[in-house]
Amino acid sequence: MTTDLAAFAADRGVKYFMISYTDLFGAQRAKLVPAQAIAEMQKDGAGFAGFATWLDMTPAHPDLFAVPDASAAIQLPWKPEVAWVAADCVMEEKPVAQAPRVLLKRLVDEAAAQGLRVKTGVEAEFFLLTRDGSAISDVYDGGDKPCYDQQALLRRYDVIAEICDHMLALGWKPYQNDHEDANGQFEMNWEYDDALATADKHSFFKFMVKSVAEKHGLRATFMPKPFKGLTGNGCHCHISVWDLAGTTNAFADPAAPFGLSAAGKTFLGGIMKHATALAAITNPTVNSYKRINAPRTISGATWSPNTITWTGNNRTHMVRVPGPGRFELRLPDGAVNPYLLQAAIIATGLDGLATKADPGPHSDLDMFNEGFKAADAPRLPLNLLDALRAFEADTTLRAALGEEFSAGYLKLKHEEWTAYCSHFTQWERETTLDI
Ligand code: ADP
Ligand code: MG
Ligand code: MG
Ligand code: MG
Ligand code: MG
Repeated sequence: MTTDLAAFAADRGVKYFMISYTDLFGAQRAKLVPAQAIAEMQKDGAGFAGFATWLDMTPAHPDLFAVPDASAAIQLPWKPEVAWVAADCVMEEKPVAQAPRVLLKRLVDEAAAQGLRVKTGVEAEFFLLTRDGSAISDVYDGGDKPCYDQQALLRRYDVIAEICDHMLALGWKPYQNDHEDANGQFEMNWEYDDALATADKHSFFKFMVKSVAEKHGLRATFMPKPFKGLTGNGCHCHISVWDLAGTTNAFADPAAPFGLSAAGKTFLGGIMKHATALAAITNPTVNSYKRINAPRTISGATWSPNTITWTGNNRTHMVRVPGPGRFELRLPDGAVNPYLLQAAIIATGLDGLATKADPGPHSDLDMFNEGFKAADAPRLPLNLLDALRAFEADTTLRAALGEEFSAGYLKLKHEEWTAYCSHFTQWERETTLDI
Protein backbone atom coordinates (compact mmCIF):
# COMPACT_ATOMS: atom_id res chain seq x y z
CA MET A 1 0.00 0.00 0.00
CA THR A 2 1.37 3.40 -0.96
CA THR A 3 2.17 5.78 1.87
CA ASP A 4 4.58 8.21 0.19
CA LEU A 5 3.37 9.80 -3.04
CA ALA A 6 6.78 11.24 -3.98
CA ALA A 7 8.28 7.74 -3.81
CA PHE A 8 5.26 6.38 -5.75
CA ALA A 9 5.98 8.94 -8.49
CA ALA A 10 9.71 8.14 -8.59
CA ASP A 11 9.08 4.36 -8.74
CA ARG A 12 6.54 4.54 -11.51
CA GLY A 13 7.52 7.53 -13.58
CA VAL A 14 4.45 9.50 -12.58
CA LYS A 15 4.74 13.16 -13.63
CA TYR A 16 1.44 14.52 -12.31
CA PHE A 17 -1.10 13.70 -9.60
CA MET A 18 -4.78 14.49 -9.83
CA ILE A 19 -5.77 15.25 -6.25
CA SER A 20 -9.47 14.52 -6.42
CA TYR A 21 -12.42 14.93 -4.10
CA THR A 22 -16.11 14.28 -4.65
CA ASP A 23 -18.67 16.96 -3.80
CA LEU A 24 -22.24 16.51 -2.56
CA PHE A 25 -23.62 16.01 -6.07
CA GLY A 26 -21.01 13.37 -6.91
CA ALA A 27 -18.91 15.58 -9.17
CA GLN A 28 -15.20 14.83 -8.98
CA ARG A 29 -13.04 17.92 -8.53
CA ALA A 30 -9.30 17.82 -9.02
CA LYS A 31 -6.07 19.74 -9.16
CA LEU A 32 -3.24 18.52 -11.34
CA VAL A 33 -0.10 18.67 -9.23
CA PRO A 34 3.42 18.03 -10.58
CA ALA A 35 5.29 15.21 -8.84
CA GLN A 36 7.94 17.74 -7.74
CA ALA A 37 5.34 19.44 -5.53
CA ILE A 38 3.54 16.36 -4.22
CA ALA A 39 5.48 15.93 -0.96
CA GLU A 40 4.19 19.28 0.37
CA MET A 41 0.70 18.67 -1.01
CA GLN A 42 0.54 15.29 0.66
CA LYS A 43 0.98 17.01 4.02
CA ASP A 44 -1.14 20.13 3.55
CA GLY A 45 -3.52 19.20 0.76
CA ALA A 46 -4.41 21.08 -2.43
CA GLY A 47 -6.40 24.30 -1.96
CA PHE A 48 -9.92 24.84 -3.35
CA ALA A 49 -12.75 27.35 -2.96
CA GLY A 50 -15.48 25.06 -1.60
CA PHE A 51 -18.35 27.30 -2.74
CA ALA A 52 -17.20 26.89 -6.34
CA THR A 53 -18.22 23.22 -6.11
CA TRP A 54 -21.37 21.49 -4.81
CA LEU A 55 -20.70 21.91 -1.12
CA ASP A 56 -22.83 23.94 1.28
CA MET A 57 -20.39 26.84 1.65
CA THR A 58 -20.20 30.53 0.84
CA PRO A 59 -17.55 32.48 -1.09
CA ALA A 60 -16.42 33.83 2.29
CA HIS A 61 -15.39 30.42 3.64
CA PRO A 62 -11.69 29.80 4.24
CA ASP A 63 -9.72 27.57 1.86
CA LEU A 64 -10.82 23.98 1.53
CA PHE A 65 -7.85 21.60 1.43
CA ALA A 66 -8.11 18.26 -0.31
CA VAL A 67 -5.60 16.04 1.47
CA PRO A 68 -4.69 13.04 -0.69
CA ASP A 69 -5.15 9.57 0.82
CA ALA A 70 -1.93 8.00 -0.46
CA SER A 71 -3.31 4.49 0.01
CA ALA A 72 -5.94 5.31 -2.63
CA ALA A 73 -3.49 6.38 -5.38
CA ILE A 74 -4.08 4.84 -8.82
CA GLN A 75 -1.76 5.32 -11.79
CA LEU A 76 -4.00 5.96 -14.79
CA PRO A 77 -3.68 2.82 -16.93
CA TRP A 78 -4.52 4.84 -20.06
CA LYS A 79 -2.10 7.67 -19.18
CA PRO A 80 0.60 6.25 -16.88
CA GLU A 81 2.37 9.57 -16.37
CA VAL A 82 -0.66 10.69 -14.33
CA ALA A 83 -1.94 9.24 -11.03
CA TRP A 84 -5.37 9.85 -9.50
CA VAL A 85 -5.62 10.02 -5.75
CA ALA A 86 -8.80 10.28 -3.71
CA ALA A 87 -8.62 13.08 -1.15
CA ASP A 88 -10.33 14.03 2.10
CA CYS A 89 -11.53 17.58 2.65
CA VAL A 90 -10.13 19.61 5.53
CA MET A 91 -10.83 23.21 6.55
CA GLU A 92 -8.87 25.05 9.22
CA GLU A 93 -7.23 21.77 10.26
CA LYS A 94 -10.59 20.03 10.78
CA PRO A 95 -12.20 17.34 8.59
CA VAL A 96 -15.15 18.75 6.63
CA ALA A 97 -18.06 16.71 8.01
CA GLN A 98 -20.28 17.26 4.94
CA ALA A 99 -17.64 16.01 2.47
CA PRO A 100 -18.85 12.60 1.23
CA ARG A 101 -15.57 10.68 1.62
CA VAL A 102 -15.03 12.08 5.13
CA LEU A 103 -18.62 11.15 5.99
CA LEU A 104 -18.21 7.60 4.66
CA LYS A 105 -14.97 7.09 6.62
CA ARG A 106 -16.78 8.12 9.80
CA LEU A 107 -19.53 5.54 9.18
CA VAL A 108 -16.98 2.84 8.34
CA ASP A 109 -15.37 3.62 11.72
CA GLU A 110 -18.76 3.43 13.46
CA ALA A 111 -19.36 -0.01 11.98
CA ALA A 112 -15.83 -1.04 13.01
CA ALA A 113 -16.49 0.11 16.57
CA GLN A 114 -19.27 -2.50 16.59
CA GLY A 115 -16.92 -5.14 15.21
CA LEU A 116 -18.41 -4.92 11.71
CA ARG A 117 -16.89 -4.58 8.29
CA VAL A 118 -19.27 -3.81 5.42
CA LYS A 119 -18.31 -5.23 2.03
CA THR A 120 -20.07 -4.23 -1.15
CA GLY A 121 -20.01 -4.60 -4.91
CA VAL A 122 -21.62 -2.14 -7.35
CA GLU A 123 -22.95 -2.64 -10.87
CA ALA A 124 -22.54 0.78 -12.49
CA GLU A 125 -24.40 0.53 -15.80
CA PHE A 126 -23.70 3.05 -18.56
CA PHE A 127 -24.55 3.92 -22.16
CA LEU A 128 -22.06 4.58 -24.95
CA LEU A 129 -23.35 7.56 -26.92
CA THR A 130 -22.17 9.69 -29.80
CA ARG A 131 -19.70 12.39 -28.74
CA ASP A 132 -22.43 15.06 -28.52
CA GLY A 133 -24.54 12.79 -26.31
CA SER A 134 -27.58 12.94 -28.58
CA ALA A 135 -27.83 9.31 -29.70
CA ILE A 136 -26.67 5.74 -29.10
CA SER A 137 -23.28 5.51 -30.79
CA ASP A 138 -23.87 2.16 -32.49
CA VAL A 139 -26.48 2.73 -35.20
CA TYR A 140 -26.90 -1.04 -35.65
CA ASP A 141 -27.76 -1.53 -31.96
CA GLY A 142 -31.54 -1.21 -32.36
CA GLY A 143 -33.06 -4.53 -31.34
CA ASP A 144 -36.18 -4.74 -29.16
CA LYS A 145 -34.56 -7.19 -26.71
CA PRO A 146 -30.91 -6.17 -26.85
CA CYS A 147 -29.73 -7.65 -23.52
CA TYR A 148 -26.56 -9.78 -23.90
CA ASP A 149 -26.52 -8.98 -27.65
CA GLN A 150 -23.40 -10.79 -28.81
CA GLN A 151 -22.93 -8.86 -32.06
CA ALA A 152 -23.39 -5.43 -30.43
CA LEU A 153 -21.04 -6.37 -27.58
CA LEU A 154 -18.26 -7.28 -30.01
CA ARG A 155 -18.80 -4.09 -32.01
CA ARG A 156 -17.76 -2.23 -28.84
CA TYR A 157 -14.94 -4.65 -28.00
CA ASP A 158 -12.24 -1.98 -28.39
CA VAL A 159 -13.77 0.17 -25.65
CA ILE A 160 -14.98 -2.56 -23.28
CA ALA A 161 -11.83 -4.69 -23.47
CA GLU A 162 -9.62 -1.65 -22.96
CA ILE A 163 -11.47 -0.79 -19.73
CA CYS A 164 -11.50 -4.43 -18.59
CA ASP A 165 -7.74 -4.73 -19.30
CA HIS A 166 -7.23 -1.70 -17.06
CA MET A 167 -9.25 -3.27 -14.24
CA LEU A 168 -7.23 -6.49 -14.61
CA ALA A 169 -3.98 -4.51 -14.41
CA LEU A 170 -5.23 -2.68 -11.31
CA GLY A 171 -6.01 -5.99 -9.61
CA TRP A 172 -9.74 -5.32 -9.26
CA LYS A 173 -10.57 -8.87 -10.36
CA PRO A 174 -13.12 -8.05 -13.07
CA TYR A 175 -15.01 -11.18 -14.13
CA GLN A 176 -17.59 -10.32 -16.81
CA ASN A 177 -18.78 -7.64 -19.22
CA ASP A 178 -22.09 -7.56 -21.05
CA HIS A 179 -24.47 -5.62 -23.24
CA GLU A 180 -27.30 -4.62 -20.96
CA ASP A 181 -31.05 -4.39 -21.45
CA ALA A 182 -31.14 -1.07 -23.33
CA ASN A 183 -29.68 -0.33 -26.75
CA GLY A 184 -26.19 1.09 -26.30
CA GLN A 185 -26.02 0.02 -22.63
CA PHE A 186 -23.23 -1.98 -20.97
CA GLU A 187 -22.25 -3.35 -17.58
CA MET A 188 -18.84 -4.42 -16.31
CA ASN A 189 -18.43 -6.33 -13.06
CA TRP A 190 -15.50 -6.56 -10.70
CA GLU A 191 -15.15 -8.15 -7.29
CA TYR A 192 -16.65 -6.66 -4.14
CA ASP A 193 -14.47 -5.01 -1.51
CA ASP A 194 -14.66 -2.93 1.69
CA ALA A 195 -17.21 -0.12 1.39
CA LEU A 196 -14.58 2.65 1.17
CA ALA A 197 -12.51 0.74 -1.39
CA THR A 198 -15.67 0.10 -3.44
CA ALA A 199 -16.58 3.81 -3.30
CA ASP A 200 -13.08 4.79 -4.52
CA LYS A 201 -13.22 2.14 -7.28
CA HIS A 202 -16.74 3.21 -8.26
CA SER A 203 -15.56 6.84 -8.57
CA PHE A 204 -12.48 5.86 -10.54
CA PHE A 205 -14.55 3.50 -12.73
CA LYS A 206 -16.80 6.38 -13.81
CA PHE A 207 -13.75 8.54 -14.56
CA MET A 208 -12.09 5.68 -16.47
CA VAL A 209 -15.17 4.72 -18.51
CA LYS A 210 -15.76 8.34 -19.53
CA SER A 211 -12.08 8.86 -20.35
CA VAL A 212 -11.67 5.69 -22.44
CA ALA A 213 -14.97 6.37 -24.23
CA GLU A 214 -13.74 9.89 -25.08
CA LYS A 215 -10.50 8.44 -26.45
CA HIS A 216 -12.65 6.41 -28.85
CA GLY A 217 -14.67 9.45 -29.91
CA LEU A 218 -17.67 8.42 -27.79
CA ARG A 219 -19.44 9.70 -24.71
CA ALA A 220 -20.30 7.47 -21.76
CA THR A 221 -23.24 8.37 -19.57
CA PHE A 222 -24.39 7.01 -16.22
CA MET A 223 -27.54 9.18 -16.33
CA PRO A 224 -30.42 7.25 -14.71
CA LYS A 225 -32.83 7.42 -17.66
CA PRO A 226 -31.25 8.91 -20.78
CA PHE A 227 -33.90 7.57 -23.18
CA LYS A 228 -37.65 7.32 -22.78
CA GLY A 229 -38.80 3.75 -23.41
CA LEU A 230 -35.40 2.18 -22.78
CA THR A 231 -34.19 0.61 -19.54
CA GLY A 232 -32.27 3.11 -17.40
CA ASN A 233 -28.86 2.98 -15.74
CA GLY A 234 -29.09 1.22 -12.41
CA CYS A 235 -26.30 0.98 -9.91
CA HIS A 236 -27.29 -2.08 -7.87
CA CYS A 237 -25.28 -2.61 -4.73
CA HIS A 238 -24.60 -6.06 -3.21
CA ILE A 239 -24.03 -6.00 0.52
CA SER A 240 -22.59 -8.30 3.16
CA VAL A 241 -21.23 -7.61 6.63
CA TRP A 242 -18.19 -9.37 8.06
CA ASP A 243 -16.14 -9.55 11.23
CA LEU A 244 -13.19 -7.15 11.45
CA ALA A 245 -10.79 -9.78 10.15
CA GLY A 246 -12.97 -10.10 7.05
CA THR A 247 -13.10 -13.87 7.38
CA THR A 248 -16.57 -14.56 8.78
CA ASN A 249 -19.62 -13.34 6.91
CA ALA A 250 -22.19 -12.29 9.51
CA PHE A 251 -24.93 -12.34 6.85
CA ALA A 252 -24.38 -16.03 6.07
CA ASP A 253 -26.50 -18.69 7.75
CA PRO A 254 -27.01 -21.87 5.76
CA ALA A 255 -29.96 -22.82 7.97
CA ALA A 256 -31.87 -19.55 7.42
CA PRO A 257 -34.31 -18.86 4.55
CA PHE A 258 -32.31 -17.70 1.49
CA GLY A 259 -29.12 -18.26 3.57
CA LEU A 260 -29.53 -14.77 5.07
CA SER A 261 -28.75 -14.65 8.80
CA ALA A 262 -30.83 -12.90 11.47
CA ALA A 263 -28.27 -10.05 11.47
CA GLY A 264 -28.58 -9.80 7.69
CA LYS A 265 -32.35 -9.55 8.02
CA THR A 266 -32.25 -6.77 10.61
CA PHE A 267 -29.64 -4.83 8.56
CA LEU A 268 -32.05 -5.24 5.65
CA GLY A 269 -34.90 -4.15 7.95
CA GLY A 270 -33.04 -0.85 8.49
CA ILE A 271 -32.72 -0.26 4.77
CA MET A 272 -36.42 -1.03 4.25
CA LYS A 273 -37.48 1.19 7.15
CA HIS A 274 -35.59 4.18 5.76
CA ALA A 275 -36.11 3.48 2.05
CA THR A 276 -38.22 6.54 1.16
CA ALA A 277 -35.64 8.85 2.71
CA LEU A 278 -32.78 6.76 1.36
CA ALA A 279 -34.06 7.44 -2.16
CA ALA A 280 -32.98 11.08 -1.74
CA ILE A 281 -29.41 9.71 -1.70
CA THR A 282 -29.66 6.66 -3.97
CA ASN A 283 -31.81 8.44 -6.59
CA PRO A 284 -30.51 11.98 -6.30
CA THR A 285 -31.65 13.71 -9.50
CA VAL A 286 -34.89 14.84 -11.12
CA ASN A 287 -34.21 12.29 -13.85
CA SER A 288 -33.81 9.42 -11.32
CA TYR A 289 -37.59 9.20 -10.92
CA LYS A 290 -38.06 8.46 -14.60
CA ARG A 291 -36.14 5.21 -13.99
CA ILE A 292 -38.06 4.04 -10.94
CA ASN A 293 -41.83 4.31 -11.40
CA ALA A 294 -41.32 3.98 -15.17
CA PRO A 295 -43.82 2.48 -17.58
CA ARG A 296 -42.78 -0.82 -19.22
CA THR A 297 -39.83 -0.38 -21.60
CA ILE A 298 -39.58 -1.67 -25.18
CA SER A 299 -37.52 -4.63 -23.88
CA GLY A 300 -40.48 -5.74 -21.75
CA ALA A 301 -39.38 -4.69 -18.26
CA THR A 302 -37.79 -1.68 -16.56
CA TRP A 303 -35.71 -3.86 -14.22
CA SER A 304 -36.08 -1.15 -11.58
CA PRO A 305 -38.27 -1.29 -8.47
CA ASN A 306 -41.39 0.73 -7.61
CA THR A 307 -42.13 -0.70 -4.19
CA ILE A 308 -40.31 -1.08 -0.90
CA THR A 309 -40.38 -4.88 -0.98
CA TRP A 310 -37.86 -7.71 -0.77
CA THR A 311 -37.62 -11.15 -2.26
CA GLY A 312 -35.41 -14.16 -3.01
CA ASN A 313 -33.80 -14.54 -6.42
CA ASN A 314 -36.36 -12.37 -8.24
CA ARG A 315 -35.37 -9.14 -10.04
CA THR A 316 -38.65 -7.26 -9.67
CA HIS A 317 -38.32 -5.97 -6.08
CA MET A 318 -36.25 -3.30 -4.34
CA VAL A 319 -34.13 -5.91 -2.60
CA ARG A 320 -33.17 -9.33 -3.95
CA VAL A 321 -31.33 -12.07 -2.11
CA PRO A 322 -29.49 -13.63 -5.04
CA GLY A 323 -27.57 -16.16 -2.98
CA PRO A 324 -26.62 -16.93 0.61
CA GLY A 325 -24.84 -14.37 2.78
CA ARG A 326 -25.63 -11.15 0.92
CA PHE A 327 -28.44 -9.12 -0.56
CA GLU A 328 -28.74 -6.77 -3.51
CA LEU A 329 -30.18 -3.27 -3.22
CA ARG A 330 -31.61 -2.52 -6.68
CA LEU A 331 -32.75 1.01 -5.86
CA PRO A 332 -29.62 3.11 -6.61
CA ASP A 333 -29.14 4.58 -10.08
CA GLY A 334 -26.21 5.80 -12.12
CA ALA A 335 -26.40 9.31 -10.65
CA VAL A 336 -25.70 8.09 -7.13
CA ASN A 337 -22.72 9.60 -5.32
CA PRO A 338 -20.36 6.63 -4.76
CA TYR A 339 -19.48 7.71 -1.20
CA LEU A 340 -22.98 8.69 -0.11
CA LEU A 341 -24.31 5.38 -1.44
CA GLN A 342 -22.04 3.40 0.87
CA ALA A 343 -22.53 5.83 3.76
CA ALA A 344 -26.33 5.65 3.54
CA ILE A 345 -26.29 1.84 3.36
CA ILE A 346 -24.12 1.63 6.48
CA ALA A 347 -26.19 4.28 8.31
CA THR A 348 -29.54 2.61 7.62
CA GLY A 349 -28.18 -0.91 8.13
CA LEU A 350 -26.62 -0.04 11.50
CA ASP A 351 -29.91 1.53 12.57
CA GLY A 352 -31.62 -1.71 11.53
CA LEU A 353 -29.23 -3.70 13.74
CA ALA A 354 -29.64 -1.27 16.65
CA THR A 355 -33.44 -1.36 16.50
CA LYS A 356 -33.76 -5.02 15.46
CA ALA A 357 -35.75 -3.80 12.47
CA ASP A 358 -37.96 -6.39 10.84
CA PRO A 359 -38.00 -6.25 7.02
CA GLY A 360 -41.40 -7.96 7.07
CA PRO A 361 -42.27 -11.01 5.01
CA HIS A 362 -40.62 -11.40 1.61
CA SER A 363 -42.74 -11.40 -1.53
CA ASP A 364 -42.54 -13.89 -4.39
CA LEU A 365 -44.69 -11.81 -6.74
CA ASP A 366 -43.57 -10.83 -10.22
CA MET A 367 -43.96 -7.12 -9.47
CA PHE A 368 -43.79 -6.14 -13.14
CA ASN A 369 -46.84 -8.26 -14.01
CA GLU A 370 -48.60 -8.93 -10.72
CA GLY A 371 -47.84 -5.72 -8.86
CA PHE A 372 -51.58 -5.07 -8.56
CA LYS A 373 -51.71 -7.98 -6.09
CA ALA A 374 -49.52 -5.94 -3.75
CA ALA A 375 -51.52 -2.72 -3.92
CA ASP A 376 -50.79 -2.05 -0.24
CA ALA A 377 -47.01 -2.38 -0.60
CA PRO A 378 -45.26 0.91 0.31
CA ARG A 379 -44.29 2.80 -2.83
CA LEU A 380 -41.02 4.51 -3.58
CA PRO A 381 -41.16 8.31 -3.96
CA LEU A 382 -42.59 9.54 -7.25
CA ASN A 383 -40.20 12.44 -7.64
CA LEU A 384 -37.15 14.12 -6.11
CA LEU A 385 -39.23 16.50 -4.01
CA ASP A 386 -41.09 13.64 -2.29
CA ALA A 387 -37.77 11.93 -1.59
CA LEU A 388 -36.24 15.13 -0.20
CA ARG A 389 -39.25 15.66 2.06
CA ALA A 390 -38.98 12.08 3.30
CA PHE A 391 -35.27 12.63 3.98
CA GLU A 392 -36.08 15.90 5.73
CA ALA A 393 -38.51 14.07 8.03
CA ASP A 394 -36.21 11.11 8.77
CA THR A 395 -34.41 12.46 11.80
CA THR A 396 -32.62 9.16 12.44
CA LEU A 397 -31.02 9.04 9.00
CA ARG A 398 -30.24 12.76 9.10
CA ALA A 399 -28.48 12.38 12.43
CA ALA A 400 -26.57 9.29 11.27
CA LEU A 401 -25.27 11.11 8.18
CA GLY A 402 -24.63 14.20 10.29
CA GLU A 403 -26.63 17.42 10.41
CA GLU A 404 -23.93 19.46 8.62
CA PHE A 405 -24.23 17.11 5.65
CA SER A 406 -27.99 16.61 5.84
CA ALA A 407 -28.91 20.29 6.05
CA GLY A 408 -26.45 21.22 3.30
CA TYR A 409 -27.58 18.43 1.02
CA LEU A 410 -31.25 19.33 1.48
CA LYS A 411 -30.55 22.99 0.80
CA LEU A 412 -28.64 22.37 -2.43
CA LYS A 413 -31.05 19.68 -3.66
CA HIS A 414 -34.10 21.87 -2.96
CA GLU A 415 -32.40 24.58 -5.06
CA GLU A 416 -32.02 22.01 -7.85
CA TRP A 417 -35.70 21.09 -7.58
CA THR A 418 -36.71 24.75 -7.70
CA ALA A 419 -34.53 25.32 -10.77
CA TYR A 420 -36.20 22.33 -12.44
CA CYS A 421 -39.68 23.62 -11.59
CA SER A 422 -38.94 26.99 -13.16
CA HIS A 423 -38.01 25.28 -16.43
CA PHE A 424 -40.77 25.52 -19.05
CA THR A 425 -41.42 22.29 -20.89
CA GLN A 426 -42.93 21.41 -24.24
CA TRP A 427 -45.27 19.05 -22.37
CA GLU A 428 -46.87 22.04 -20.63
CA ARG A 429 -47.53 23.78 -23.94
CA GLU A 430 -48.97 20.62 -25.47
CA THR A 431 -51.34 19.98 -22.58
CA THR A 432 -52.23 23.53 -21.55
CA LEU A 433 -52.15 25.82 -24.60
CA ASP A 434 -55.77 25.26 -25.53
CA ILE A 435 -57.18 25.05 -22.03
P1 ADP B 1 -26.32 -9.44 -10.85
O1 ADP B 1 -26.32 -8.83 -12.22
O2 ADP B 1 -26.82 -10.82 -10.83
O3 ADP B 1 -27.01 -8.58 -9.85
P2 ADP B 1 -23.40 -9.10 -10.90
O4 ADP B 1 -22.56 -10.31 -11.11
O5 ADP B 1 -23.57 -8.18 -12.03
O6 ADP B 1 -24.81 -9.59 -10.33
O7 ADP B 1 -22.82 -8.24 -9.67
C1 ADP B 1 -22.66 -8.83 -8.43
C2 ADP B 1 -21.82 -7.96 -7.54
O8 ADP B 1 -21.97 -8.46 -6.20
C3 ADP B 1 -20.32 -8.04 -7.84
O9 ADP B 1 -19.70 -6.81 -7.62
C4 ADP B 1 -19.86 -9.09 -6.83
O10 ADP B 1 -18.47 -9.04 -6.51
C5 ADP B 1 -20.70 -8.67 -5.64
N1 ADP B 1 -20.77 -9.68 -4.56
C6 ADP B 1 -20.72 -11.02 -4.65
N2 ADP B 1 -20.75 -11.57 -3.43
C7 ADP B 1 -20.81 -10.55 -2.53
C8 ADP B 1 -20.84 -10.44 -1.12
N3 ADP B 1 -20.80 -11.53 -0.35
N4 ADP B 1 -20.89 -9.22 -0.56
C9 ADP B 1 -20.93 -8.13 -1.31
N5 ADP B 1 -20.89 -8.14 -2.64
C10 ADP B 1 -20.84 -9.34 -3.26
MG1 MG C 1 -6.97 31.18 -8.43
MG1 MG D 1 -25.19 -7.35 -13.05
MG1 MG E 1 -27.45 -4.79 -14.92
MG1 MG F 1 -27.88 -6.62 -10.19
